[in-house]
Amino acid sequence: MAKHSLLSPSSAARWTACPPSARLCEHIAEGPSLFAEEGTEAHALCEYKVKLALGIDAADPTPTLGFYNEQMEDCADEYAAFVLEALQQEKDAGKDPIILLEQKVDVSTYVPECSGTADCIIVADGKLHVIDFKYGQGVPVSAERNTQMMLYALGALGMFGALYEVDEVSMTVFQPRLANVGTFTMASDELLEWADSYLRPRADLAFKGEGEFCSGPHCRFCKVKATCRARAEANLALARYEFRMPPMLDDDEVCKILGKVEELAAWASDVKEHALKAALTGKRFEGFKLVEGRSVRKYTDEALVAATVLNAGHDPYEKKILGITAMQRLLGKSQFEQMLGNLLEKGPGKPTLVAESDRRPALNAATQDFKEN
Ligand code: SF4
Repeated sequence: MAKHSLLSPSSAARWTACPPSARLCEHIAEGPSLFAEEGTEAHALCEYKVKLALGIDAADPTPTLGFYNEQMEDCADEYAAFVLEALQQEKDAGKDPIILLEQKVDVSTYVPECSGTADCIIVADGKLHVIDFKYGQGVPVSAERNTQMMLYALGALGMFGALYEVDEVSMTVFQPRLANVGTFTMASDELLEWADSYLRPRADLAFKGEGEFCSGPHCRFCKVKATCRARAEANLALARYEFRMPPMLDDDEVCKILGKVEELAAWASDVKEHALKAALTGKRFEGFKLVEGRSVRKYTDEALVAATVLNAGHDPYEKKILGITAMQRLLGKSQFEQMLGNLLEKGPGKPTLVAESDRRPALNAATQDFKEN
């Protein structure tokens, strides 16, 4: 397996925000992750699908994919269609684009020893596209000033800047399992200016293990997220919030707490998970003990249960219509849409209070309907 560079594009959001985290995490091993394996397989299928669509000879990886299923197939098809469309747009504009898949890019001009692999790069006169496939379905990844994408784009500019006049860089995150497809476009001059004025100095600090610890949403992917003192102190600062009189919080104070609550909840859950894992290996935390959680009853032998109930003259089975996912699997995506498309509806989602920066549109006056009585 290739050695991961200290400052990789995929962790750049973290080490640019918190430079000393890079050296702090450097020697901490990370266990194998099924999600990562699944993602690698999905990427292999995506690459194959795009090659197939481009008429490039490639071996079908499907028989070797342990996580392969219909959803992976659909996601890879959607990705391939997206890539082909981006390529076609450049051709339609009279350009002569080139496309590179799983392309290694070198970012070491700005970041020591940094390189990465971009899923798809399309270069044409005037424009560079970087498209990144994300198979994860935990957190939606935003394309807006996405540091990983910006590093890939810098690497691609380094490769093609001399051959093509690139004025604009378009960076797309394609995350089909969350129906999240976002593109962020910026002038290549602006990207290069960011690389000189922000990225390079942050990377130098990170490489030397210097700079200030800084906690934030980027901690979610940090190896020391559960035991990091800086993160703990930042979150505990909220608990030390100095409440003024009168005894009820005013709206400003509620806003301040709302702004921190997600981070606080994520941190608390990371600490709990870390402590539970350690306790399960025998570690003792003063004042705490391991107990059995709630468990549910279940049949030890379903066939025997059914036979016993039938013998007693009762019907042990219930007949239920398949759920939407199972039905789609049964019929296949296109037949499902054709047969049942007009029999589907999507009710309004439960109102959620999020920061103004969230990409979802705000609920309008109809929110009255959601008011609790
Ligand atoms: S947990 Fe957050 S604050 Fe701590 S080292 Fe990691 S990124 Fe920095």
